[in-house]
Amino acid sequence: MIRKFINRVFGRKAHGESGDPAAIGVGKHGIHREAISHGSRRTVETLQQQGYKAYVVGGAVRDLIAGLLPKDYDVATNATPEQVRRCFRRARIIGRRFQIVHVMMGSETIEVTTFRGHHDQHGGNKAHTDAQGRVLRDNVFGSEKEDAARRDFTINALYFDPTSETIIDYHHGVADLKQKTLRMIGDPQTRYREDPVRMLRAVRLSAKVGLNIDPATERPIREMSELIENVPPSRLFDEMLKLLTSGHAVRCVQQLRSVGLHHGLLPMLDVILEQPLGERFVALALAKTDRRVHEGKTISPGFLFATLLWHEVLAKWEALTSSRERPVPSRIPALFLAMDEVLDVQAEKLAITRRIAGDIKDIWAMQPRFEQRSGKRPYGVLEQPRFRAGYDFLLLRAESGEVDGELAQWWTDFTNCDGDDRAAMLLPVKAHEAKKRRRRKPRVVSQPDAAGEVE
Ligand code: ATP
Ligand code: MG
Repeated sequence: MIRKFINRVFGRKAHGESGDPAAIGVGKHGIHREAISHGSRRTVETLQQQGYKAYVVGGAVRDLIAGLLPKDYDVATNATPEQVRRCFRRARIIGRRFQIVHVMMGSETIEVTTFRGHHDQHGGNKAHTDAQGRVLRDNVFGSEKEDAARRDFTINALYFDPTSETIIDYHHGVADLKQKTLRMIGDPQTRYREDPVRMLRAVRLSAKVGLNIDPATERPIREMSELIENVPPSRLFDEMLKLLTSGHAVRCVQQLRSVGLHHGLLPMLDVILEQPLGERFVALALAKTDRRVHEGKTISPGFLFATLLWHEVLAKWEALTSSRERPVPSRIPALFLAMDEVLDVQAEKLAITRRIAGDIKDIWAMQPRFEQRSGKRPYGVLEQPRFRAGYDFLLLRAESGEVDGELAQWWTDFTNCDGDDRAAMLLPVKAHEAKKRRRRKPRVVSQPDAAGEVE
């Protein structure tokens, strides 16, 4: 009943038909020109004054209709990148494969894209694909209608013209949004084959906007999930980071599991979510990340990936130190071996940058140092540049039940007091430790950036 009504109001007839687009007036969609950012509005108006077509498109229109605050604004136009650049004082062309223009308006950067063509596998615009059908080159200009058809979901193919306050809707995206449905444009299997990242986008956007994935859009994901392995690692890393910092990481990860996407995608999700302690740790970390995003705080990718991979490190660490093979590495070298092994596997899949890998290692390497609560060592830990992250990590470990809550509390108290109070908190140096320390001097440090004195 409601569906019928929405379809009538927003002009949906048989789904998937390729007729003229619906032009939806402000009375129906409710988005006034003042709702969009100043920069995007001026960009569109400038292009229109120069005789070009221009619209605000994509995520921003979708988010406004859904009552969310857009993250950024994209503009689509029939002007070529060079023509766009000439319309603005502060604009530069970026990208080699498909050029787009960054238009700077005050502190805003608007991404302006020329309408892209639709690749017709049988027609003249033959796309270059790999053996699995993934589109490798996608760089022809096209018409407005073609531009709409090559977007992923119906709700992402909405073109808002601030001048007339009309939304041009080629694929019934407004009706789908009102009905809380995420629906692929075209045949879902073909579209996932062209770009497997769309499977991850389906999960992220449905969680972000609070939509149900249409059954025909969801169904192929499980059997096609391994296509994700063909995606270049750097792109996968970007997309995973977007997903984990979307403010809906908990929902996204639940959804990844429910559509069958976590297997093979990230080894950590495979293994970890299936063991209770690991699952609890990851769930706590993601919930905390979501909270930070909603509070407008920054998220450190290093911290995030350190939490996601920690239980894998723990498992490898345990395996190395209890191995029957001789010689068994001692505790700290074994931790470093485990860390490297886990990061190497991830690097292949996810292209974790070297800087982020460095952050991750710092956080992990600090963990055994928190066990040292006597002598000068705790002061050394406090001086670590990444102390705060390492300490937050320890709190999570305690909260998840992996380490004693008393240890985390001790560090909280130690951080909060100073001078004599701090000194009074130190635990006595155990006799055997004192002896060991005396004997060890001077010593050769084999891991200079590592856990330092701990052994
Ligand atoms: P958000 O900005 O919230 O991450 P978004 O939908 O705006 O979401 P962008 O990556 O900014 O995502 O992409 C802008 C628009 O480009 C999308 O709305 C969609 O129309 C199109 N798009 C992005 N990625 C793809 C893709 N893999 N396949 C087809 N169209 C895409
Ligand atoms: Mg966007």
